[in-house]
Amino acid sequence: MPEFPEIYLRTQEIKANLVGRVIRDIDVLQPKSLNIPVDDFTAALSGAVILDAYQRGKWIFVETSQGYLLLNLGMGGEILLTSRAALPEKHRLVFYLDGQSDKLEPGADDQPCLSVNFWWFGYAHYAACGELEKHEMSAKLGPNATEVSLEELKSMLAGNKSRLKNFLLDQTRLAGIGNAYIHDILFLAGLHPLRKIDTLSQQEIEALHAAIRKGLQISLDKGGAFYEVNLFGEKGGFAMEDILIGYREGQPCPTCAAPIQKIKTGGTSSFICPTCQPLV
Ligand SMILES: [Zn+2]
Repeated sequence: MPEFPEIYLRTQEIKANLVGRVIRDIDVLQPKSLNIPVDDFTAALSGAVILDAYQRGKWIFVETSQGYLLLNLGMGGEILLTSRAALPEKHRLVFYLDGQSDKLEPGADDQPCLSVNFWWFGYAHYAACGELEKHEMSAKLGPNATEVSLEELKSMLAGNKSRLKNFLLDQTRLAGIGNAYIHDILFLAGLHPLRKIDTLSQQEIEALHAAIRKGLQISLDKGGAFYEVNLFGEKGGFAMEDILIGYREGQPCPTCAAPIQKIKTGGTSSFICPTCQPLV
């Protein structure tokens, strides 16, 4: 599943490659991924100029002259900048763009397009100009995990009685952390996933704040997870061997060499070093 690093990178790629381009036409092959009828969606965004792109958690917001296109890849998928002739076999939506040259005829084989595929199910939603706050799924998201200051994190945690892992995965608190990166973030912070938030010291909150940024930055620097591709179909460079303890049950902790444990934490599993992340 793409998380903060992958979505951040895709957003930057859209910004660098698509701003100023015009959406000429749209093909929708999975109407269920839309929040409005296909004809309304197509009419709303056809002729729109792409103005900007930004991210909130696992959502990409593409701002256009005619409203917002909101993309969420769900369990994973590809957003590819390609051409009509090179369209991948599997795609759920295609946004045909204006050509690089004035000579390009709409419908020509080399017409550039943005192809979106969801491995399982994802969302391509529309929000009109000035109505973004009415989009419930994104309006309730918390701030991006990397953009929260230490003081903001402290005030979010104050008086919270839940367990640390639940807090970190709650997208309405911090947006963008999921099961790919949470294990290493907690390891970098030296904190057990089941720690009760109201027992954290100021020093531990500082360690957590630094670990959130560090844990996501390692992947950002490497182009995101190896199982996701960029707009040009190239895989990310953050590989299994770059993961510190996540999904490494029985292997030695990189700090103290104790065997990494897989433990049950509510309905999900967690990977921890029992020595570096004691449950105190
Ligand atoms: Zn250890």
